[in-house]
Amino acid sequence: MDAEHDLEELATMVASLRRHLQRRERARIRNLPIDRGADGKAPEASQASWLRGLEGGLFSDDREAYRATSLEELRAAIGDCRRCKLWPGRTHLVFGVGNPRARVMFIGEGPGRDEDLQGEPFVGRAGQLLTDIIVKGMGLRREDVYIANVIKCRPPENRNPEPDEVEACEPFLLKQIELIKPRVIVALGKFAVQTLLKTKVPIMRLRGVWHEFNGIKIMPTLHPAYLLRNPGDKKLVWQDIKKVIKEFQPPVM
Ligand code: SF4
Repeated sequence: MDAEHDLEELATMVASLRRHLQRRERARIRNLPIDRGADGKAPEASQASWLRGLEGGLFSDDREAYRATSLEELRAAIGDCRRCKLWPGRTHLVFGVGNPRARVMFIGEGPGRDEDLQGEPFVGRAGQLLTDIIVKGMGLRREDVYIANVIKCRPPENRNPEPDEVEACEPFLLKQIELIKPRVIVALGKFAVQTLLKTKVPIMRLRGVWHEFNGIKIMPTLHPAYLLRNPGDKKLVWQDIKKVIKEFQPPVM
C-alpha cells in the first residue's frame, strides 16, 4: 500500500509540475526580473520571501497580488476575481478573517452556503464547531487567529474544488500565508492538507503529526464538517489541538 501511495504522490507532483510549466509557457515568461527601486534594491515584499521566483509562474497573470504588502492590498488585487469558473456562482468572495498577525492560522477547503451568503469563512454549523475549538479548546478568541480557505468562492452544490480552480486560487492563499507569517497552520480536512503538502496520502495518516510548509509547522486535523457527521472522532481532533497548544507554552497570545 505504501508503494502505491508513493507512486500516487509522485504522479500528483509530476502533474502539478507539468501544469506549472505549461502556465509559464503559455504566459511566455522566463524568470521575469523583479523590479528594483532607485537604490537598486528589490521591493521589501519580494525580499526574503519564500514566494520569490514564483512571480512568473503561480502569479504570472497577477503581479499586483504578488507584490501586495498587506492583506488589504491583496484583497484589492483580487478584486472581482474571474480567474476560474467558480465566479458566476458566488454571492460573496470569501477572502478570510482574523488577526493579520495571527500566530495560528486555520485553513479549510472552501466556502459553503452560509459562508457564501455572509462573505466570511466558517460561519455555519461547522464554523460554530471551529469556534468552539478555538475558544473552548485553545482559550483564544476567533479574532486572535486567522481563518481562510484554499478556494475563495463556493463550488456548486459544495462539490470538491477541481484542479484548475485550485491552481487559479492557490496563489492568493500562499500570499495570505506569506503576509500573516503564522507560526503554526492547522489544516482542516483532507483537501486543505493535501493541497498544501502536495500529497494524496489520506488525512487519517497525515493528521496528528507535525508537517512543514516553507518553514511553517502544519498540524493536519479533521474538518469540522466531518465532525458534525462523525462526532465520535472529536477526540482525535482534540488530540491534534493539544499538540498545537503545547507548541505555544507559555500561551499563544
Ligand atoms: S475561486 Fe479563487 S480564482 Fe476562482 S474566481 Fe474565486 S477568487 Fe478567483
